[in-house]
Amino acid sequence: MHEYSLTERIVTIASDTARKNNAKNVSKVIIVVGESSGIITESVQMYFDLIALGTPAEGAELEVKSIKPEMYCPNCGKNFIRPRFSFECPACGALGNPTEIGKEFYVESVELEL
Ligand SMILES: [Zn+2]
Repeated sequence: MHEYSLTERIVTIASDTARKNNAKNVSKVIIVVGESSGIITESVQMYFDLIALGTPAEGAELEVKSIKPEMYCPNCGKNFIRPRFSFECPACGALGNPTEIGKEFYVESVELEL
């Protein structure tokens, strides 16, 4: 649902970047989305083409880099990728603590056609 406004922000960032650099248009936008961010990337993909119409980002490719959520093991002191349906450290079985890794949502880069 909030994917629409998030996608608007992506298009704005991409369009502003194109204008600032006097580019003809945007060829590609790379975004980073954590799998725990709650953002449905399919929706972002779908809205992107619509919202980009009439902007320098029209027709640009949208690439999504997914980030797997990581937990921190207080016993081993290491981060691990959260196993499905579990919060346990695969090395020692201790209960992991959530980290900020996997909650990302940002534009990594904008590629322009000059
Ligand atoms: Zn551990």
